[in-house]
Amino acid sequence: MSAAAKAAVNPVEWLVGPKTARPAHEPKDSHLRTGAEFVASLRDGRRVVLGGRDIADVTAEPALRAGIDTLAALFDDQFEPATREATTSIEPKTGARIATGWLVPRAKADLDRHMAMVKHSTLHTFGVFGRPLDYGPVKAIGFLAFNHLVKREEPDAQEKIEAFLDAGQRNNLVSADIIIDVQTSRKLTMPEQEGRLRVIEERADGVVVSGVKAGNSVLAQGNIGTISMPPPNPTMPEECMLWSAVPANAPGLMLVMREPATTGREHEEDHPLDCAGEEADGLALFDRVFIPREYVFSYKNRSTGGAYYTLGRFAQFKIAARLACRAEIFAGAAQMIVNALGTDHIPGVRAIVADVCAYAATLRAFMIAAVERASPTESGIVLPDPVLVTACRLHSVVGLPQIMQNLRELSGQGLISRVPRASWERQDIGPLLDRYLPGYQVTARQKNRLFNLIWDMTSSAAAMRIALFENLNATPAAPLREELYRTYDRSEGLAVIRRKAGLD
Ligand SMILES: Cc1cc2nc3c(=O)[nH]c(=O)nc-3n(C[C@H](O)[C@H](O)[C@H](O)COP(=O)(O)OP(=O)(O)OC[C@H]3O[C@@H](n4cnc5c(N)ncnc54)[C@H](O)[C@@H]3O)c2cc1C
Repeated sequence: MSAAAKAAVNPVEWLVGPKTARPAHEPKDSHLRTGAEFVASLRDGRRVVLGGRDIADVTAEPALRAGIDTLAALFDDQFEPATREATTSIEPKTGARIATGWLVPRAKADLDRHMAMVKHSTLHTFGVFGRPLDYGPVKAIGFLAFNHLVKREEPDAQEKIEAFLDAGQRNNLVSADIIIDVQTSRKLTMPEQEGRLRVIEERADGVVVSGVKAGNSVLAQGNIGTISMPPPNPTMPEECMLWSAVPANAPGLMLVMREPATTGREHEEDHPLDCAGEEADGLALFDRVFIPREYVFSYKNRSTGGAYYTLGRFAQFKIAARLACRAEIFAGAAQMIVNALGTDHIPGVRAIVADVCAYAATLRAFMIAAVERASPTESGIVLPDPVLVTACRLHSVVGLPQIMQNLRELSGQGLISRVPRASWERQDIGPLLDRYLPGYQVTARQKNRLFNLIWDMTSSAAAMRIALFENLNATPAAPLREELYRTYDRSEGLAVIRRKAGLD
């Protein structure tokens, strides 16, 4: 039987793979997977190319494996009494305990659960994974939230999305975003851009797609991706208007990875953050990939084609929440640097730390207010205040480079006077370093390790990768500004100005 025919018989199996025998989880945990089960699920015949090599097993490739292990630890947290509450939730319809990332928010309390999960995972990864478990199926949830827009042309979309969410919840999947088309001359219209992902064949049981997508963070280390349309473009051909889901091992899909920023072999003392790996990005090449109709959520629907930002509102919230948590880590880092250097009494130094604190406080305030002012969409999904989330995203993106610079500034030579562990352990070097390099109330070696961490946070190749990610992922600053211009209510201020200036 061909792959496509099989998919038509069992779409869930097409998406999540053959059900692996699960060790004896109690029935109440039947929707959760351990880290080991997650790792095993990635040995599924996916096609991944890294540095010119075919990677037969992503879990055996050090540059990918370290990041996989970081995700796997979050899976294990679902079973730990101390972290179970932060990482899992009860799905109200089924009563099943599911990963919180897959919880559809139908009440403000659900958003609080998402915030708790984002905080937990951000403390675990330091926020350098943009698509961890808690990111979840953000696009699908966005779709459900605005089903009243989608259903005008596609009345069966909701049922498909709900079935998809059910499959994701039951199988505790890690989901990537497959959105942005590849870079080519922006002077070309969309139909002229050959690489754009598009449907090349419509069949009774689904569609066949070809083309390339960019980014695809975590897809090679995760289970599935949701394909959605890039920002609206008046020249977008109908065959490119596709919202769907695809497994990482779909026949015909090949992931061509960027060069890694970490090796997977870093020692924890030398690289406290980089040793935990990274989220891999890469091009996704679709060569006649079949997608069963059960996962074609929307096709040739102009109302979804123009609703990129609206449908992405839940994603924007998740991204803003993660950066708000990262900002608290930055504030802690700034304080630890000045503590260790004994510079905390210097007014200019305190001012820089205060700027980092102000960044953290502002993002925190945005998120508290956005959740407090959450409201249900017409389709009954509760989302945070969209204007506050957009403003938070914009503020966080624009301010981040300065915050990174502040940490580097506070560090002085600390970032380059770091000595690798192997050199420190030499008998002719280590004792001298121990004597000459101590900080304030920290040993020389502790100080060295602190700056190794600050390096990984601000200056390493992986730090630059996450800086690029924050700058661009989901929506860069320019469209955020446009969205804020469009949606921010300044009518009261405008009225005051009109009156005072005699313009009424
Ligand atoms: C590390 C990383 C991970 C990523 N992961 C993902 C992912 O998981 N999934 C995914 O779908 N995408 C991902 N992306 C891609 C990201 O979404 C895009 O890079 C982003 O949306 C910008 O689109 P572009 O790169 O095609 O920019 P281009 O359209 O090529 O434009 C290049 C630059 O020109 C300027 N520009 C272009 N158009 C405008 C405009 N209208 N107004 C103002 N300025 C403009 C901007 O400065 C822009 O950055 C990732 C990117 C990075 C760097």
